[in-house]
This record gives sequence, C-alpha cells and structure tokens, in this order.
Amino acid sequence: MADMTVTAPFDNSYARLPAVFYTRLNPTPVRNPSLVAYNEPLGKILGISPASETDRAAVFSGAKVPDGATPLAQLYAGHQFGNFNPQLGDGRAILLGEVVGTDGNRYDLQLKGSGPTPYSRMGDGRAWLGPVLREYVVSEAMHALGVPTTRALAATLTGEDVLRETVLPGAVLTRVAASHLRVGTFQIFAHRGQIEALRELTAYAITRHAPNADGPLGLLRAVCAAQAELIAGWMSLGFIHGVMNTDNSAISGETIDYGPCAFMDDYHPDTVFSSIDQTGRYAYSNQPRIAVWNMAQLATSLLQQMDDPEAAVEEATQIVHAMPAQIEAAWLDRMGKKIGIAKATPEDTPLIEALLKLMQDQQADFTNTFDALARSDARDQFLDRDAFDQWSSEWRNRISQEPDPNSVMQAASPRVIPRNHRVEEMIAAAVQGDYTPFERLMAACTDPFGTDDTDLMRPPTKDEIVPATFCG
Ligand code: AMP
Ligand code: MG
Ligand code: MG
Repeated sequence: MADMTVTAPFDNSYARLPAVFYTRLNPTPVRNPSLVAYNEPLGKILGISPASETDRAAVFSGAKVPDGATPLAQLYAGHQFGNFNPQLGDGRAILLGEVVGTDGNRYDLQLKGSGPTPYSRMGDGRAWLGPVLREYVVSEAMHALGVPTTRALAATLTGEDVLRETVLPGAVLTRVAASHLRVGTFQIFAHRGQIEALRELTAYAITRHAPNADGPLGLLRAVCAAQAELIAGWMSLGFIHGVMNTDNSAISGETIDYGPCAFMDDYHPDTVFSSIDQTGRYAYSNQPRIAVWNMAQLATSLLQQMDDPEAAVEEATQIVHAMPAQIEAAWLDRMGKKIGIAKATPEDTPLIEALLKLMQDQQADFTNTFDALARSDARDQFLDRDAFDQWSSEWRNRISQEPDPNSVMQAASPRVIPRNHRVEEMIAAAVQGDYTPFERLMAACTDPFGTDDTDLMRPPTKDEIVPATFCG
C-alpha cells in the first residue's frame, strides 16, 4: 500500500544551518504504536498526504521516519523560574523538519515524547497520554479562540509504559509551529560567546519571522510586538500559561508548551494552577510583567552581536520599556470588545476594571460572565445584584454610543473554554480507553463561539474543582 504512506512536502531550513544549532538524531522507535487523534483539516493545510491509520501511527509516534525528514534535536538554554540554566535543548522532542503548507506558510513538524536525546539530562525523553491530550485540546482551542499558538496534528500511543508516580501509557504529540525558536535559543549562543552562531541565528529568525526587520533590534521590536498581542490574548481569555520560562517563550509570538496551563473559572488575578509555581511567579496577573522580563533577556542576548553594544543598549532599552504600554493597548482593545466597545480608549479602562473588581469580589466565572454580558443578562452571575446593577447602568450608558455592541461582544467572548476539571476528566477517561470526553471537548472547543454544549459551559462545583496542574 505504497500510496497510503505519509508524505509531506519537507523543506528543512533548520537542518541546513550549521551543526552547532542541533544534534541530528532519529526518534526512538516504539513497540506498538496506535493512532489516537489526527487533525485532518490541519494535515490538509500542511500538504500531508492521506495515509492509512497504521502508517500515520508509525510516522507520528516516531516508529518510522517519513521520506524527506531530517530529524534533529534543537539546542537551547533558558531562565527557568528566573534562574539561568545554561543548557536545555529538546530533551524529549525531535524536529522532523519543515513543510511549506498550501497556505504558503512554513511550519515545523515536531514529535514530542519521542525518546531520549543528548539534551535529556535526567529525563526519560517520553510523555504520557495525559499531557499529550491536554496539549492537543488546549492548543486547538487556543487556535479556535483566535490566539497565536502551536497546533496539534496527531496524538499516538506508543504501546510502551511511562513511569511517573505510577505507570502510565506512553504517548507522542505531533506539534506544528511557525518555528521552535525560543528566547532561550538566542540565550545559549550569547552566553557561550558564540557570536557567529548568534548572528546566523538572528539572520535566520529575521528571514522566517520578521522579513522587514532591520537587524537584531528590528527583530527585537517585532518579537516584542508579537508577544504583547499574545499576552493580551491570554489575559482576555483567563488563560494562565503556568511556565513562562524563556525557553517557553517563542520568537514567533505563538503560545508554546502547554504544560501546567489552565483557564481560570472564578476570576481572581492571583490565580495559579501549576503545582511547581510555589511563589506565583507565573500567576495570571503577572503574565504581562513576565513577558517584558523575557523580552529583556532576548534583548540582552541580541545585543551581544552588535559591533557597538553600548550604543545599541539605549535603543534596546527603549524597545523593551515600550512593551508594557503595548500590552496595555492590546489588552484594552480586547477587553473593550468584551464589554461591547469596538475601539476602547484609555477613558474606558475604569469601566473594565470596575467589572473585574466586581467579578473578583463575588467570585464570578470569567468566561460565563462575559458570555452572559454578550447574550443575556450577566446579573445572574453576581450574588450582590445591586452592585452589578450600579456598574451595569454606567455600562449601558457607555455602550448606547456603540453601533452593534452585542455582535462585538459575541465575537470577543467564547461560550466554552477547556475548563480544567473537564480536561482532567477527559484524561482519566482516555487512560481507561474511553475517548468520548476527548471527542466531545474537541468538538466544543474548536467551535468556542458557536457551540451550544451547555454542559461544558458549566463551571465546576466545589467538589469538581481541580486546583492544581502538573508538568507531564
Ligand atoms: P519544559 O518545562 O516542558 O519547558 O521542559 C524543560 C526542559 O526539560 C526541556 O529541555 C525539555 O526538553 C526537558 N524535559 C521535560 N520533560 C522531559 C523528559 N521526560 N525527558 C527529557 N527531557 C525532558
Ligand atoms: Mg519547554
Ligand atoms: Mg513542557
């Protein structure tokens, strides 16, 4: 069945870079691969051929390397919770290569959970089904929600056990990204003083992500702008990334690395899900500050290649210092739309903040409050109705000047997000071989503005709340 083999239009620009950037390495073959999920619409965009389920399982578990792939593990460093780790790298991922899709865009195809690499350190190079399905659902939801993100092409079971606290089913995620360049990719060469490599990487990133950028500082400007938009997108959805280390901060501006992430239910700015985030460094409301901190690390690295770094420091500082205002503007635009204001101005900020304060005081559900505002009456979301009525009369007064506030709100506020307790429930079922909750969550979350799955709109009861997430 040669015609049923996975083929993809590979064109592997990263593998054409010097070997200093990676280690060529095939994925480790697995015993008994099977296909759990395949994203047909995405596969079509990528120009991947139709193929038998068996062949998809083999290729997307790493058991079989497709023609044209040049598998490699990428090298990078990163600040983890603020501490610099001079060498990380793909410890459990393999870049198969890149394809230029039918949309003309270049995409990385990466297997995550594909076995040990020279960068695995103490890890086993593997992933288990839970985090693989979490990333599959949440990244596809994020895409449908209109926020830049890596995507999920396939999930496979390896047929092998993975040992965590218990024995768990091994799995591989095929991740699709505009690239896997991270802040940490620049940091490692800057830190090592490998200036030629740093220059080459910068030129590569400019070609791939910011073709109009003028030199390293032009790239910095473009990445800061993309990150500002990204963070505003997260904030407007109640999304908490959970592990915004510089190795998880993408140069493309895409959300990357869905580890201990979650969407909040009740609104509270201090919300943290990640079990390893003891100090709340990556709490919901800290995300804008952390993004700026990460861009300062990128700036520091990029500066190492300047012929006159002293002169460039001032400009780089200006670029990074401009970022809080960029995030604020992007936030205002998104949050304004969520209360029906098509083009919010700073004068509208107090109205938005007053609503958030009400939501916080009364533990109102983030997603449902904005959905109710857009479609029915948000009054029911609040215990203290008088307080809401007071805000609401001011609000109605403001949106009476708007031509079509309901359409604006409905386009800005989803009905369904992948709530953490539903994600956990989906994982528990999948481990038992029942993929019905996965399918259902996927159906609703890939149509988040149109779905009428009212059960998935329901916030968790006290007993259902899943307050902590774990890295996989
Ligand atoms: P993360 O926290 O997911 O961003 O991962 C941080 C670093 O740990 C990266 O270099 C990963 O490749 C590596 N890593 C995470 N899990 C494993 C694992 N099970 N085996 C090997 N390396 C891992
Ligand atoms: Mg990572
Ligand atoms: Mg991770």
